[in-house]
Amino acid sequence: MFLEKFPLETPFVIAGPCAVENRKQLFETARAVKEAGGHFLRGGAYKPRTSPHSFQGLGKKGLELLAEAGKLFNLKVVTEVMDTRDVEIVAEYADVLQIGSRNMQNFALLKEVGKSGHPVLLKRGMSATVREWLCAAEYIKAEGNHNIILCERGIRTFSDHTRNTLDLSVVPYIKKHSDLLIVVDPSHATGDSSLVIPMARAALAAGCDGLMLEVHPQPEKALCDGKQSLTLEQFTEFMAEIRSCVKEDANVS
Ligand code: PEP
Ligand code: MN
Repeated sequence: MFLEKFPLETPFVIAGPCAVENRKQLFETARAVKEAGGHFLRGGAYKPRTSPHSFQGLGKKGLELLAEAGKLFNLKVVTEVMDTRDVEIVAEYADVLQIGSRNMQNFALLKEVGKSGHPVLLKRGMSATVREWLCAAEYIKAEGNHNIILCERGIRTFSDHTRNTLDLSVVPYIKKHSDLLIVVDPSHATGDSSLVIPMARAALAAGCDGLMLEVHPQPEKALCDGKQSLTLEQFTEFMAEIRSCVKEDANVS
């Protein structure tokens, strides 16, 4: 399984903090992600926050820290780009450009990441149907860029015990109707760290190609999404579980 620019083991794991906060936080997390067997380091440098008064991310400084940590720990870097004017600089520092849920139908941005030729992680809009999501992917493909990973991150429903509702049936549906890779983000889907691992297991059982998990050395002190972030220890333990399942599967087949 691979994108044009690099091969991928499946299931692959993208992990890291919601936002890059400082060097210590990011590097501690990156070390744990690598040691546990993760493949990509995630972290927001430009954050799409509901309130303009919340932490908006470190911007270029965040990109520099991500690139440095990615190099040091040999992890590919995934980070969000929110503005057409930032595509060039984000592509300079990151391996994969993330289009967040709120921008899934920002067509100017989709065209611009399409033109960049960089791999794109396209999150599902929080109120988007599968058709709308696949059409958003078409905008990227129309620019000649087929390096796309879809990411299911939960949708808005009347159900309010979780932040969003994880729509897991999209995984086998996408596998049947599209040739794109699909990862699942149970962190933003549930908004609750105690539900993340059970839903990650369910996502793997549904056949996803990978997972995106928010991880923080001190979730209670996180500037963003601490409630849904796994500790480094929880993440490490879960990664060992995934590895042992993958090994068992390989032995069976
Ligand atoms: C994120 O992954 O950092 C993020 C903001 O997620 P979403 O766009 O799914 O809300
Ligand atoms: Mn987040």
